[in-house]
Amino acid sequence: MNNLRQLNTACEQSTLENGKPPTALGDLVGPGKFIRTLPVCPAGGEYRLVPGDSPASAKIVCSVHGSQEELQQRLRGTSR
Ligand SMILES: [Zn+2]
Repeated sequence: MNNLRQLNTACEQSTLENGKPPTALGDLVGPGKFIRTLPVCPAGGEYRLVPGDSPASAKIVCSVHGSQEELQQRLRGTSR
């Protein structure tokens, strides 16, 4: 959850700075980039970059947990 938030924040920062969304995770993660090392999903999922709802956006999803929104909704549902 925090990993996804961190990755998506980096995604937004990158989009703002470059005027266009990143095209790969490698644009966000690495020495001197927005995140130094790729976070590890606690469930062993893999993170990947997918195009967002608009051409000017992109987001990170987890192969196990899905998107940040989906994960948030799931957590909200089980907490009641
Ligand atoms: Zn995950």
